[in-house]
Amino acid sequence: MEINLVPETETIKARDYISFSEIRKYEICPLKHYYHYVLGDKEPADLNLVFGSAVHSAIEVLLRSIMDGKSLTHGDASNLFRHFFQTEIKEKDLSIGAEDNIPHLERTGVNLVYLWCLERASTVLPVQVEQKYLVTLPGIEKPVLMYVDLVEANGEMFEGRASTDLVVTDIKTSKTDYALHNPSLSLQLALYCKAVGTRLCRFDVLNKKKGTFQPVLGVMYPSVQEYLFDRFRKTLESINLGICIPPAPGEWPCTPNCYYWSKCAGTKIPDIVFESAREEKLRIAGLKELLKAKSKTRRKTA
Ligand code: SF4
Repeated sequence: MEINLVPETETIKARDYISFSEIRKYEICPLKHYYHYVLGDKEPADLNLVFGSAVHSAIEVLLRSIMDGKSLTHGDASNLFRHFFQTEIKEKDLSIGAEDNIPHLERTGVNLVYLWCLERASTVLPVQVEQKYLVTLPGIEKPVLMYVDLVEANGEMFEGRASTDLVVTDIKTSKTDYALHNPSLSLQLALYCKAVGTRLCRFDVLNKKKGTFQPVLGVMYPSVQEYLFDRFRKTLESINLGICIPPAPGEWPCTPNCYYWSKCAGTKIPDIVFESAREEKLRIAGLKELLKAKSKTRRKTA
């Protein structure tokens, strides 16, 4: 595998904190990180981003109202999403493609925020909302900057008893459901847990494809948390060394939807990966045809 040494990134070195989103981008694809942070060629906002951000903003306002003891109507939830979605589209000056169905997306967002309200608003006990934290980790010079979506008092049973621990929650808009183990293996939630000093964590997953709400509660075990922090240290080390290795084939996050698709050296590698995957499919399809033909002949001769 080729290793490209890139100019020293100014990002992490220049700031007095480490941005979690920067680490996250590197983990998704080091080349994405290189284009975005080192060359400064930032991906423009797109509809997905605006959608997620409008859901977050609407739920943030709802949570703050709950903290202030105000009762909410379903109309509040719908109007809030609509307001943030439309404002962001205007402000970000998005180029809307023919395939972008804005009214459909708006309806989906309204329904999802409404659903979240229905499932959570009457039971959630918010203690902090969108709270900024600087998390210090052993062996890392600078603190990690995080915004924790929600810290709540736990009204739920945990390990057979009513827990008094706080729960940290991250709200996700996603096209897929999450697995039950996702929270316990998440670096983001490991950092949230460290910031708040708890081990209970959850994702509130709003599935925009299915239009469903899925709360996934997990426990951050100290050994897993230590493993995740160790991975964090190694990622940081790689960024500081300027190492920029494309993701391993098979783990490849590339699709033509990637903003850097046209200019990225990675686009050459996926061609090879896709080509061999295509050949493999054809080979398997060929074998299946052969087997079908053989079983037909066997039936005829029987
Ligand atoms: S095209 Fe692939 S390798 Fe290149 S930046 Fe995008 S995801 Fe990364």
